Amino acid sequence: MDVFKPLDLSNDDQNSDIESVEKVRCLIIGSGPAGYTAAIYAARANLKPVLYTGLQMGGQLTTTTEVENYPGYPDGITGPLMMEEFKKQAERFGTDVRIGIATGADLSGKVHKVKIDDKKVIEADTLIIATGATAKYLGLEAESRYAGMGVSACATCDGFFYKGKVVAVVGGGDTAAEEATYLAGLCEKVYMIVRRNVLRASKAMQERVFDTPNIEILWEHQAIDLYGEDGVEGVVLVRKKGTSGEETIKVSIDGFFLAIGHSPNSDIFRDYLETNETGYIKTIPGSTKTSIPGVFAAGDVQDPVYRQAVTAAGSGCMAAIDAERYLAQIKV
Ligand code: FAD
Ligand code: NAP
Repeated sequence: MDVFKPLDLSNDDQNSDIESVEKVRCLIIGSGPAGYTAAIYAARANLKPVLYTGLQMGGQLTTTTEVENYPGYPDGITGPLMMEEFKKQAERFGTDVRIGIATGADLSGKVHKVKIDDKKVIEADTLIIATGATAKYLGLEAESRYAGMGVSACATCDGFFYKGKVVAVVGGGDTAAEEATYLAGLCEKVYMIVRRNVLRASKAMQERVFDTPNIEILWEHQAIDLYGEDGVEGVVLVRKKGTSGEETIKVSIDGFFLAIGHSPNSDIFRDYLETNETGYIKTIPGSTKTSIPGVFAAGDVQDPVYRQAVTAAGSGCMAAIDAERYLAQIKV
């Protein structure tokens, strides 16, 4: 997205709209489990954290129904409610939670500068990046053509609109399995479009899919187009692509749900921080320290492996402790 850009404070064109500059000890970007947990720890350590929520207040878990694997909730809890509780706990200790998006960054100096909503610059002694990850799309032109007209990347947000209808979920991971199972409770039929002949999802999630009679898995299928007059009416699929048995088929559906994973939200920091080839911010193993002193990364934005709420929260805690120790060392 081109709203996100490296921040050049020596460039007058980029500075003309800046209305204010504020200095803080600890700036946290992101309001998922990582950001709020970092805030709880930073606030209790008297770092007076300021946290910017971004567009998705509460993070990815606000797009799911039941969270069953977060310790402390033996009966499960809905994602939105759990994140509301995280927020309350962060605020209870004095975190300044603000609505706003980080739109630029300059991490070249000792003080870390982050531009908010293209208007304000925050100068932070320590910066905790907890910007998580965003849903991926296949890159088909049809996905934009039918955006809001049958294409969605969030079954729990949009599933309701497909009550009693036929839908497809693309992907074979935990998200796809969860979304397909959720949609199966609302819809007449759910197709899972899986590109390989196995699911990546955990065994428990796979079993749920296999035990749900109105889910049909289309193994070794790939979506290449969508069709329909005023909205999605069907999907064009290639079966066994690249083999002698390759064939193209059409399947009638009313809704097309993407569940093929997420990309790390690290764009504005990539000019300064080391990342891996897919953009996950690199941290020093066993810590949340990035390649720049005083800048820490927590949660999914630095975790290509586990990407769980509890691991995000754990690394948020680590980031706040790392920030506190850094400040003690430089005595700010
Ligand atoms: P996120 O939750 O992604 O939050 C990122 C935050 O950063 C958001 O608040 C966003 O607004 C903010 N942000 C991004 N860019 C900017 C910016 N430029 N400026 C300001 N703010 C910004 N895990 C489990 O453990 N159990 C589950 O049951 C489970 N279910 C899931 C269901 C679904 C549908 C999905 C998608 C994921 C699920 N996960 C689950 C994974 C879990 O949600 C993530 O691992 C976790 O939310 C990561 O937390 P995070 O704080 O790193 O980032
Ligand atoms: P993921 O594990 O990366 O799985 C992505 C799936 O989409 C894979 O099956 C992949 O296929 C498929 N895919 C990727 N690109 C594709 C393309 N271009 N065309 C067709 N298929 C494509 O992502 P995720 O399912 O979103 O899970 C992310 C993390 O969140 C995981 O760690 C997961 O455990 C966690 N999570 C946990 C829960 C839970 O515990 N309840 C729920 C949701 C998510 P291949 O397998 O062929 O690569």
